[in-house]
Amino acid sequence: ENNDLDTVVATRVLVIGATGFIGRFVAEASVKSGRPTYALVRPTTKSSKPKVVQSLIDSGIQVVYGCMHDHNSLVKALRQVDVVICTVGGERILDQVKIVDAIKEVGTVKRFLPSEFGHDVDRADPVEPALSFYIDKRKVRRAVEEAKIPYTYICCNSIAGWPYYYHTHPTELPPPKEQFEIYGDGSVKAYFVTGDDIGAYTMKAVDDPRTLNKSIHFRPPKNFLCLNELAGIWENKIQKSLPRVFVSAEDLVRIAEANFMPSSIVAALTHDIFINGCQFKFPIGEPHHVEACELYPDLKYTTMDDFFEGYL
Ligand code: NDP
Repeated sequence: ENNDLDTVVATRVLVIGATGFIGRFVAEASVKSGRPTYALVRPTTKSSKPKVVQSLIDSGIQVVYGCMHDHNSLVKALRQVDVVICTVGGERILDQVKIVDAIKEVGTVKRFLPSEFGHDVDRADPVEPALSFYIDKRKVRRAVEEAKIPYTYICCNSIAGWPYYYHTHPTELPPPKEQFEIYGDGSVKAYFVTGDDIGAYTMKAVDDPRTLNKSIHFRPPKNFLCLNELAGIWENKIQKSLPRVFVSAEDLVRIAEANFMPSSIVAALTHDIFINGCQFKFPIGEPHHVEACELYPDLKYTTMDDFFEGYL
């Protein structure tokens, strides 16, 4: 399983947000990679999500109770680890400056991966309210850089699943059974990466010198697909063609403008991905950008064809 760590001392990892959607994939991949893995979990989460917390413990993660807003608990957790990965959700993005302050104080953290897990927020320019969300993520980046904390920004693109424009966690829903909603003309491509692969690539990057102070983009070539192609893959699986309903660029902008949270952010991001083509219109290049499949060619990622198989 673990050939990363043959000779080196295992990097100890702390995940803040391990009970969340992206965080669970990351924390589980960390354990699977053989790294001692800790999760900072709020004491209240023990009673609100007992099964999720138990499954983290069962998979070998050491749960430390604390909170981003409880400075002492944060500092105590940070002292035990080398790398900190944050996967807090949308409404908590700016609160990460508290983590930056605590990392500065502790002084022993070798790398911080803030809660990114999407697009290149410095280069993408979505409509509101996604823009404000990106501005917050940019502020966190600047705080990390000013504090001179070594970092890696994970730009993992779209999590695999049918990209429903109204759902923050599209993988929690199966692909469409009745009809496809196609954004624009369905010809703009995006990169799809399964949750497990987001975790696996993140763990490859976490202590790799080649990703130090860089953004790493996940661009699996076989999963670079437009909605028309994605629909075709699913229709092939179910041996049935489904009707298409077209959602125009204007429709998406109207939903975004309604400023309904979090669905307006999702609509604005859907617009940026499937109308503007935000995932591929920027070149990736040194000195600041690297690509995951090029760095880790041995990691066999899951194709969308195989991923959809799981829903049959
Ligand atoms: P979730 O809301 O699902 O999870 C947030 C996590 O943060 C939970 O574990 C939550 O704990 C924890 N948390 C919240 N407040 C605190 C606190 N004060 N102290 C410690 N932990 C706290 O987030 P998502 O997984 O949806 O989002 C994570 C990141 O991934 C975001 O940056 C988001 O933009 C991105 N994302 C990317 C997607 C993609 O397709 N590429 C899809 C979805 C998200 P609790 O369980 O107690 O609430």
